[in-house]
Amino acid sequence: MVSANTGRPGADVNSDSPSVLYTRASSINRALDQIGDKWCLLIIQEVFWGINNFNGMLNATGVSRGVLSDRLKWLQVIGCLRKRAPQAGHRFSSYHLTQKSLRLHASAMMAIEWERKYYRTPQLDAIQLIHADCGKAFTPWMRCASCNGAINAREVRYSPGPGATWDQRQKKVRRRSSLSSSRVPSQHSVYRNLINLVGDRWTANIIALAFHGHSRFDDFLKELPVATNILSDRLKLLENEGIFAAQAYQQRPRRCEYHLTAKGWDLFPYFLTLLQWGDRWCDPQDLGPPMNLMHRPCAKPLSGEVVCNSCDGLLAPFTVSITLA
Ligand SMILES: [Zn+2]
Ligand SMILES: [Zn+2]
Repeated sequence: MVSANTGRPGADVNSDSPSVLYTRASSINRALDQIGDKWCLLIIQEVFWGINNFNGMLNATGVSRGVLSDRLKWLQVIGCLRKRAPQAGHRFSSYHLTQKSLRLHASAMMAIEWERKYYRTPQLDAIQLIHADCGKAFTPWMRCASCNGAINAREVRYSPGPGATWDQRQKKVRRRSSLSSSRVPSQHSVYRNLINLVGDRWTANIIALAFHGHSRFDDFLKELPVATNILSDRLKLLENEGIFAAQAYQQRPRRCEYHLTAKGWDLFPYFLTLLQWGDRWCDPQDLGPPMNLMHRPCAKPLSGEVVCNSCDGLLAPFTVSITLA
């Protein structure tokens, strides 16, 4: 696979500020810079379930008041939540999904599928997804909108799109909470292991680069404004989680290539929903997609759509109900 290479603007593209770096424009990175934080992902998930006041979210996520209020502010800044003043008879403000965050529904569907495949628990096995349009239990899957065929991540070709520029990105990230999302109290957290991975900005960025064919430490380092010790740590984590398999390509000093495993490749539909969301909602200059994707089997531009396997209908927000055990 080939990644979009537009050439770097000038020498090492460090800006005046040491905390700002430039990376190749990518809708996945843009989406992750907005919502790719453990707590943001958990909060959005709770709001999808109808938990929409501060105390409800506090109990569901187990996060501190400070972090929760910080993330709620941020989600409003990026237009993913709308705060509503207390309604008659209620004491508290509530937070609501917007057109932008509703479109993360497709990501949630793919996230649940991946989690159910790789982190089976009796609770996850007992979850039922019902599609209101056909009234049947279903498994969501992603198909190509042009040929209706299944999407194999290895059959996608990438080329620079109209928005293939460089993004200025902050090196510093928000204060992280050391809490693991695998321990959040909420029963609604049906893809907590995925959130644990994707909710760390670097881990998610590294996986995204792997889909584009990157496999070596230096390749990742060139593309990401990340410190070397953090990069090593995240590569180790991804190996331990079974997303990457490390293969030595040099001894003394030993150096490894990191290749996606089947479990890693299976994250592709989730990342494609993020990319499509980023194309649509995270394009500040309205230049168009930074990257064009082509589905090789049909040779058409790739647009992945998440559908019901019972009726083949599109899974729109509010047409899916989830029953927990
Ligand atoms: Zn196709
Ligand atoms: Zn259906």
